[in-house]
Parts: sequence; C-alpha cells; structure tokens
Amino acid sequence: MPGNTPDFSFEFFPPKTADGKAKLRSTQAKLAQLKPRFFSVTFGAGGSTRDHTFEIVTDIQQSTGIETAPHISCICSTRENISEMLANYRNNDIRHIVALRGDMPSGMVEAGEFRYANELVEFIREETGDHFHIEVAAYPEYHPQASSPDRDLANFKRKVVAGANSAITQYFYNADAYFRFLERCEKAGITIPIVPGVMPITNYHQLARFSDACGAEIPRWIRKRLEAYGEDTTSICAFGEDVVTGLCEQLLAQGAPGLHFYTMNRSSPSVAIWKKLGLSKK
Ligand code: FAD
Repeated sequence: MPGNTPDFSFEFFPPKTADGKAKLRSTQAKLAQLKPRFFSVTFGAGGSTRDHTFEIVTDIQQSTGIETAPHISCICSTRENISEMLANYRNNDIRHIVALRGDMPSGMVEAGEFRYANELVEFIREETGDHFHIEVAAYPEYHPQASSPDRDLANFKRKVVAGANSAITQYFYNADAYFRFLERCEKAGITIPIVPGVMPITNYHQLARFSDACGAEIPRWIRKRLEAYGEDTTSICAFGEDVVTGLCEQLLAQGAPGLHFYTMNRSSPSVAIWKKLGLSKK
C-alpha cells in the first residue's frame, strides 16, 4: 500500500455487443484516471464470455497502461485449456490472475478436470511458478454450498496453501461479517491480504437476484428502504451511495487493506463513492 492510500481496484465483465464494448471503453477511461492498482475482467465458465475475457483484458491493459487481471474459472475446463490460456496471458504481459472454481452453467453436467479453485491455484503455480500474482475468492458470509463455516474456512486455506497471494471477498453490507472472518483467518494462520469486494447499490431487483444466488445478505433495514423506493431510481442511488460509502469508511478505518469495486461496467456509482471517501492518490 503506497503511503496511507489504500489499494483499490475495479472489476468489469466482458460485454457481448458493440454498444456494450463502447460503454466499457468510456468506463475504463474514466476509472483509469483514479489510478487504481488494477482492473479485473470476469470469465464465464463453459463458454458464454470466456473467449471475450482475453480480448478485453489485453485491450484494457494496453489502452490504459493499468495492470489488468483476467478471472479464470476452472469448472468445465481441462488442464490443456487452462495451460493454453496461461501461456497466452503470459505472452501478452499479463501478470495478475483471479483464480476461481466458477459455477456449472445450466445444462452442463461434466465438471471437467478441476473440482475446486485450490486445484487451479496449484496448477497455475506448477505451470508458471511465480509469474502471476494470484487472487482467490473469499466469503465472509460463507459460500452458499459450504457444508459448514469451519469447512469453508479450511477450504479457503487450501487456496492460500496452494499459492494464492491475496483474496477478494464476495460483496457484503455487514462490516462485522468481514472483521469476524478476518479474525478467524488470523487464528487459522492465514496472513494474505483479504480485500473487501464492494457492490454499489443502483438497482434493487438486480441486487436482490444476485444476492439470493451468491449468498450475500442484504440487511433487512436496507432491503425495506430499497423496496419502499419502488421505481424511484434517483432515491435508490442516493440511499445506496450513502450506505455503501459508510460501509467503505468503516472498513478502511478498521484496517481493510483496500477495496475492490464490482462496477457492473459503470463508472459513476464507483466514482461517487471514491470521491466521498477522498481516495485520491497523493
Ligand atoms: P472454491 O474455493 O473451489 O469453493 C467452492 C465451494 O466448494 C465452497 O463451498 C468451498 O467451501 C467448497 N470447497 C472448496 N474446496 C473444497 C475441497 N477441496 N473439498 C470440498 N469442498 C471444497 N464466477 C465466474 O464464473 N466467473 C468469474 O469471473 C467470477 N469472479 C468472481 C470474483 C470474485 C471476487 C468472487 C468472490 C466470486 C467470483 N465468481 C466468479 C463466483 C465464483 O466462481 C463462485 O462463487 C463459485 O461458486 C465458487 O468459486 P470459488 O473459486 O470460490 O470456489
């Protein structure tokens, strides 16, 4: 972390249309002005967006000069696929990866040659040594498929032992869940930085859908306020900005090593929070 400024990063997804690509170009240019430590680009398991990730990652890194990390999910993949992908990234000066298991796309039944993300991290280290900085996912409110909090923590530790350098969390709106998770990690001997994932609030229905799927809890008081705004997007955004800025302030004040924004390919919600937090690099 340079000086007292926390590291922060922005996540995008690969757009499918020409219009989406143009919007992303404008978003990445605006966010690049904030000098984040890195950008990252998600990856769709089983084919939907996987081919676009490479193209978008290399384009962003070249056009902005900011380190850009592809997400790689291993479900439905073979060692050969992953090895090829790693070689392509290496040959294109990419040195940072977010390594995930991913979720089985609907309709697919074969999990492929990797079952869990720790196997992917191990494979990346075997194939490429220390070339890549490897991020993994962490779940302060626990992964929805975890059989118990203790097992989930033990499984998180497997990824660290396999060679992860740092972690990004699933988003959450309850700071206690994050700090309690950090305490449990420390007790388990996990010392890598664990950066909170931050989801700005701009659309209640979309957020509720995502949260149900990924196991992130929207506290009742937030849900009730958002429900009451109905289709009033301006009020939803203003309330969301307040809530998420307050959460980020608390996280940073209590020692979170940085913030990773899930941008949904939009700049304004993250920029608004970033400005309120006064995160400019000195
Ligand atoms: P894992 O760490 O493998 O864990 C998955 C589940 O299996 C957990 O319940 C864990 O407790 C259990 N488990 C792990 N190891 C073992 C083991 N050895 N034995 C038994 N159980 C085990 N998804 C995408 O498809 N594309 C993306 O780009 C993407 N980006 C993401 C970025 C971040 C920061 C986060 C937090 C999530 C992202 N996801 C993405 C979603 C992620 O793929 C899903 O949450 C997925 O269900 C789990 O991935 P994981 O890497 O955490 O899996």
